[in-house]
Amino acid sequence: MNGKGHGPKVLAAVGMLAAALWSGSGARADTVPVMVIHGGAGVIKADMSIERQQIVKAALGRALQAGYAVLKAGQPAKDAVVAAIQVLEDDPNFNAGKGAVFTHDGHNEMDAAIMDGATLQAGAVAGVSHVRNPITLARAVMEQSKHVLLIGAGAEAFAQARKIPLVDPSYFWTQYRWNQLQKALKEDAAHTQHADETTDRHFGTVGAVALDHAGHLAAGTSTGGMTDKLWGRVGDSPLIGAGTYANAGCAMSGTGWGEFYIRTVAAHEICMRVTAMHETLNHAAQDVINREIPALGGDGGAILVDAQGNIAMPFNTSGMYRAWVGRDGVSHVEIFGNGKT
Ligand code: ASP
Repeated sequence: MNGKGHGPKVLAAVGMLAAALWSGSGARADTVPVMVIHGGAGVIKADMSIERQQIVKAALGRALQAGYAVLKAGQPAKDAVVAAIQVLEDDPNFNAGKGAVFTHDGHNEMDAAIMDGATLQAGAVAGVSHVRNPITLARAVMEQSKHVLLIGAGAEAFAQARKIPLVDPSYFWTQYRWNQLQKALKEDAAHTQHADETTDRHFGTVGAVALDHAGHLAAGTSTGGMTDKLWGRVGDSPLIGAGTYANAGCAMSGTGWGEFYIRTVAAHEICMRVTAMHETLNHAAQDVINREIPALGGDGGAILVDAQGNIAMPFNTSGMYRAWVGRDGVSHVEIFGNGKT
């Protein structure tokens, strides 16, 4: 046996093992995966029958498991985020994809974004009306274009070129959302309430954040925006840093009154406080969602996960649809509570 000859080989093998266990940005390849999803903030208990709570919880559970199965299979966080969000987009109970809310003119204009914390790559679309799963198109923008954000007809031309499923706008028509628009229009006409003060106009967005086996994070958000929105309004969801953000140490998806998330650059603000200022995830998240945003007059919630698998789910509304599997591998689905679980 030639001991001299084995030295470099052993070293190379150790190097390969180390490379397999540790991936770029110092993340560990044996991280316990974590998945968190939301289906929007703002739900009001008195408005929700037990039956409806059960339907929505079951849908959240299905989306959670769709995302978590991807993580368990060892696939990247961005794949899990897309898998979970697609389930919610296909479900009429949420304000994204099939259940998107109506604009003032009676159309559906959807926004979505995804960000891969491992590479800081991001993709987003805004104001699309024919894309069945806007999160899929956002991902294609991230991976198959040199741009980050595409809007309207241009985004849909890109979808067509990439063979991303397009549907007739009638696919997005639901009675429930139509009734919400009629109610909002009546309120506008009667001036009974300032449009932006009506609580059920800007909720129901969906989102997901994930930590994968490689220790990488990703975040995604998809929405129909706000009922009765005007003039090509774009909210926070597709704006990287406002409603959606992920880096090597923190991932967030927000839901709520988008204008305030844009003005506070909420997702970037929280993640920078975590990764650059070394605040705990929960402290930074609670401070922005429960102090900064309400201080300006906004409301909403967010889901977050950090590279250690800590989770935060703050909200300043009466409820937030949410579901998660933490480091202990146990699934949870909640609507109400204080956002501290
Ligand atoms: N944040 C979304 C928007 O303003 C709405 C929501 O979260 O439901 O477009």
